[in-house]
Amino acid sequence: MKEGSEFEGKLIILTAPSGGGKTTIKRHLLKTYAALGFSVSVTTRDMREHEVEGADYYFKSVEEFKALRAEQAFIEWEEVYDGQYYGTLKTEVERLWSEGQHIVFDIDVHGARDLKEKYGDRCLAIFIRPPSLQVIIERLKNRQTESEQSLKKRIKRIKREMMYENEFDTIIVNDLLDVTLKEAELKVETFLDISEEDSPTKI
Ligand code: 5GP
Repeated sequence: MKEGSEFEGKLIILTAPSGGGKTTIKRHLLKTYAALGFSVSVTTRDMREHEVEGADYYFKSVEEFKALRAEQAFIEWEEVYDGQYYGTLKTEVERLWSEGQHIVFDIDVHGARDLKEKYGDRCLAIFIRPPSLQVIIERLKNRQTESEQSLKKRIKRIKREMMYENEFDTIIVNDLLDVTLKEAELKVETFLDISEEDSPTKI
């Protein structure tokens, strides 16, 4: 980790249609590179089993979210699904950069576009493309985290989100997980100009 005045924090933005597998890639990158920290978002959706407050998300009510929004606490925010809000906190980004870390974001395509617009070349915006629409729908169903109604909403949104891929810096097709993870490593190492020696945690 590099601290000090010459440190310029970068942004690694993972974006994909919902269910595109970016959470697995995010976890892998964070485990592999000590130089990376995760921007924990605020969400108003219910906490899922195994999720941890402050590690996966900051879980808030819609009222709390709106109060934060009114205070201009977010760099970007989205109503990703009807009545479900997600946002990136300014304080989160400032904290990670002040600790000398580059930041990994796991956000939807609109949020990714907003960050890219704001931070330009400081970002590597990676679109994680599922091998096909059918595969992503199957993954979402198998995850069994959604009600029938929520599943329908998500599928509708996925179809729209698949059309955004050319707006980002690079695309990774998430088919074979091992290959996907290696590809993500390569892109991150090239962008940040880091290598295995800089990453004591890299296996
Ligand atoms: P999930 O509910 O499955 O955790 O996330 C739903 C979608 O919201 C995913 O595409 C996720 O990447 C996105 N998301 C999570 N946090 C944020 C955020 O802070 N801002 C935006 N714009 N999208 C987010």
